Amino acid sequence: MKNRDEIFKLYIDPDNFREMFHTPFFQNGYIYASNGSIALRVCGNMLKKKNILKSQKPDCSNLFPETEKEKTVSVNQLNKLLWAADMIEKTTKTATYVKCKECEGSGKVTWQYGDYTRDCECPVCNGSGNIRKTEKVNIEKRIFNKDAIIKLEGSEFRAEHIQIIVKTMKLLEITEAKMQWDKNTKSMKVVFDFGNGIAVLIAETHFYQI
Ligand SMILES: [Zn+2]
Repeated sequence: MKNRDEIFKLYIDPDNFREMFHTPFFQNGYIYASNGSIALRVCGNMLKKKNILKSQKPDCSNLFPETEKEKTVSVNQLNKLLWAADMIEKTTKTATYVKCKECEGSGKVTWQYGDYTRDCECPVCNGSGNIRKTEKVNIEKRIFNKDAIIKLEGSEFRAEHIQIIVKTMKLLEITEAKMQWDKNTKSMKVVFDFGNGIAVLIAETHFYQI
């Protein structure tokens, strides 16, 4: 399996409060990795199980559904859907400053009462010597809105999940995957089969119950 560790990393969630989502685990011939909303299953024969712990909990024997109907999807098709989905602009702000006229940039002003003089912090610029003039908003880059809804072959997915599918396909160096639907719930659970015993399950609802 190409890029095994990078692929597993896409599916686990080390910060999740549930320990079962922290690392991949081996169970009944398969290696599973999940963050609670998306799950990767790899047939154990495909790779060395070095450094992967065996775990009987959670029981994943019924996690992946029996599927029917199949549709081939390409990485290009998924990428196009991602780019057409809702995006967020990531911005940074740049402020420009001008020299304070009151203190001429020194940050200090002199008060004078007759013969008595005293230096004080400039009340206009608060002693900085500069006045904030404008704030420029720079668009750094456009990023995916991970919660955007992507419609694909009659099912709806979060952009975040489609992005993980695309990344996985790139790491596996494949251009096509097979979409398969749960026989019982129809569009509720969808499997992306990458071949060679590697598959991903996306459920519309979270599967914390596993
Ligand atoms: Zn000033």
